[in-house]
Amino acid sequence: MGHRNYGNVNCGLIWKIAIFLGLAICGCSVGGAPSPPPSKKPVPAKTTSPEGFKPPNALERSLAMGSDAPTFFLTMESFFEPIKEPTSRDWLAEHQEKGQTYPQYEALEPNMPRAPRDKIYLLPLGEFSSGDPSLEKIQDYTTRFFGLEVVLLEGETNPTFTGRTDLFTKKKQWLTSDILSHLETKLPEDAYCLLGVTMTDLYPSESWNYVFGIATLKKRVGVYSLARYDPQFFGNSRGEDWDKKALERSCKVLAHETCHMMGMAHCIYFDCLMNGTNHLDELDGQNTFLCPVCLRKLQRAVRPDFLERYRHLKEFFEANGLEKQKLWVSRVLES
Ligand SMILES: [Zn+2]
Ligand SMILES: [Zn+2]
Repeated sequence: MGHRNYGNVNCGLIWKIAIFLGLAICGCSVGGAPSPPPSKKPVPAKTTSPEGFKPPNALERSLAMGSDAPTFFLTMESFFEPIKEPTSRDWLAEHQEKGQTYPQYEALEPNMPRAPRDKIYLLPLGEFSSGDPSLEKIQDYTTRFFGLEVVLLEGETNPTFTGRTDLFTKKKQWLTSDILSHLETKLPEDAYCLLGVTMTDLYPSESWNYVFGIATLKKRVGVYSLARYDPQFFGNSRGEDWDKKALERSCKVLAHETCHMMGMAHCIYFDCLMNGTNHLDELDGQNTFLCPVCLRKLQRAVRPDFLERYRHLKEFFEANGLEKQKLWVSRVLES
């Protein structure tokens, strides 16, 4: 993966390569593209995707679920909007995505969380200050989302990774390969995966400005930075309701990335948690929930009791004042 256009890589392609090599680069989420060099003018945002993304029709959506999809998934379809045409700067306006149907997912056979390797471990790396996303809440949410045991390890507050200062933001960055090698040595025997979470910015090699996260699926380790989801990182105010926004963003990111870890590619069928996102507004507008196509993949990966799962998620949204999500789950539970 020695290409230069690290953040620009087509995420559909990433996932084919990822499954092949066991390596996943998360260029998804909020503009993974490297900042343009100062000598060049920023490239104007495109208004259509390179090949003009056309939302799949009803038949294509239905085939993506699989012709043998149980009734539950067909019923869930009424709770999701079909994906819309992207507007300027949106993920699908700038990235070609071929999608991944349920039958295609089934054929992949990625690592699945199965006993004895069925726990998700979270390892905080570096400092988390007050006002940063709550790791305990992220742990709680990830537990409810996947129905797996999620263990929050004691953080390493002052790790010694290779680092540098980013030329553009003047902020400290850590080298991801160094972190992944470290995580491999710490992988517990019962871990499905070990995920490093940090508020420090990351870079994958000298030629790249930054990366949001990277994972090696075969080695079961990954690291994700929440730094660039925080307005303070760019010198802006966090604004009102920051706690809720921080929680919502970090829960979505962790769930989305962990689904990638389970072999799920970006969704092009419905408005869904697995849609790629290219900027913060798109992340904030992204659905918190998995559409029926992706939900069926989740069923294969973690075999949840769906009613119990939605009840557990509802409790979380209620306890944390995430009203929109609570109302959506209530509608599903009442149906
Ligand atoms: Zn993604
Ligand atoms: Zn989906």
